[in-house]
Amino acid sequence: MKDPIAIVGAGIAGAYLAYRLARDGHAVLVVDDARPGRATGWNPGGINPLHGPGFPGAMEGFYRDAFRLHAEHHEYVQARSGTDFGWRVVDRLFLAKDEQEAVQLRSLADKYNELEGFSAQWMDPAEIGRWDARVGESWVGGLMTRGNVRVDAERYRQALLAVAGSMGAEIISGTLKAVATRDRAIESIDWGHGAVAIRHLCMATGSRSDDPIAGWSPGKIVPVTPAIGDLLLVRSSDAPPLADVSNGLTAIYQHDGDHFWIGGTVRADGPLGETSETIERALLAGAHSLMPGWKAPEVVARSSAARPATADGLPAVGQTPNYANGWIINGLGGKGILLSAWTAEIVARMIGAEAALNEFATVSPDRPADHG
Ligand SMILES: Cc1cc2nc3c(=O)[nH]c(=O)nc-3n(C[C@H](O)[C@H](O)[C@H](O)COP(=O)(O)OP(=O)(O)OC[C@H]3O[C@@H](n4cnc5c(N)ncnc54)[C@H](O)[C@@H]3O)c2cc1C
Repeated sequence: MKDPIAIVGAGIAGAYLAYRLARDGHAVLVVDDARPGRATGWNPGGINPLHGPGFPGAMEGFYRDAFRLHAEHHEYVQARSGTDFGWRVVDRLFLAKDEQEAVQLRSLADKYNELEGFSAQWMDPAEIGRWDARVGESWVGGLMTRGNVRVDAERYRQALLAVAGSMGAEIISGTLKAVATRDRAIESIDWGHGAVAIRHLCMATGSRSDDPIAGWSPGKIVPVTPAIGDLLLVRSSDAPPLADVSNGLTAIYQHDGDHFWIGGTVRADGPLGETSETIERALLAGAHSLMPGWKAPEVVARSSAARPATADGLPAVGQTPNYANGWIINGLGGKGILLSAWTAEIVARMIGAEAALNEFATVSPDRPADHG
């Protein structure tokens, strides 16, 4: 059997790639150390193709492709893994606090109404009040959108790995310590149990991608830093909001049954893991500002995770400058659950071609950018 394609990092990016490559018949080896702050473990799992960095614009077609790929594969992954990861279409009400936000949101409506399976409709404050009187009265209106999907991101990750495993992928718990290279080729990797020969290496290591690994010198690539987000998981005995409700990062998202996520924040530093009471109070106040009439939820868990972010907000996906068989999937920021199916697809294609593909130059890891 040929040496495997190694994937380091089994967040959603590495897990989707493992599934994709195993399904294409490749030998796959995944090494992951499940460190605290893994972005995939703590997020609301929105698969939303119609907003985010580079939308509208450079990422617009890529977001649509990513959504389509999830839609095509999710039933297979669910059936073969036997894991229900909660795929479901959700409505979302984007609230506007002033005219400027209202103009921005209204301009999104056409994008929703143009895409098959999606729609959007502007609601004025009276309509919102009739829809759910628990929403605050301070909003100038809101865009009700239909078609976005929500999953349990952690269960989705596990389901993808389970399918890859069922097709022969080897999944190892460990930290990559060293790589051995010759000229422009990575020959083996070592996670503390000796060198293992590999055919290709894809680093999908998320926000701590600059941790030192002996021998790993990929060349000049865009830096990735953590954009930390805090979330509460809450339970409410009150009737559920009829849709996800948000204003900017402040949001109430459906999770499972009577459980909801309350978000959100973004910060450059500070602790990962369980967050402070101050942050909890701020998040609860945010949820209250969205829906003052929603009965105060009980906090089940509070935590934070690190979005792997680039300076321009775009992902870094493709070949490393220094290694012909070295690949990177990183910088997925706040869109990694959505983007994972697409990043797996394009890296699988590039590995097949043994070359970077020009059509994805916008997201190339060595694109011109502030290299810090
Ligand atoms: C609060 C919050 C809300 C979000 N909401 C959404 C959303 O609604 N929709 C959406 O699409 N995205 C969302 N995101 C973004 C999404 O969670 C991330 O983009 C995505 O999870 C990143 O996945 P990843 O696989 O690149 O990295 P991670 O999930 O961080 O995984 C990286 C993995 O690599 C491992 N690793 C690192 N170094 C090594 C090493 N040397 N050896 C072995 N293993 C290693 C780590 O342990 C980890 O398991 C949100 C993120 C946050 C924080």
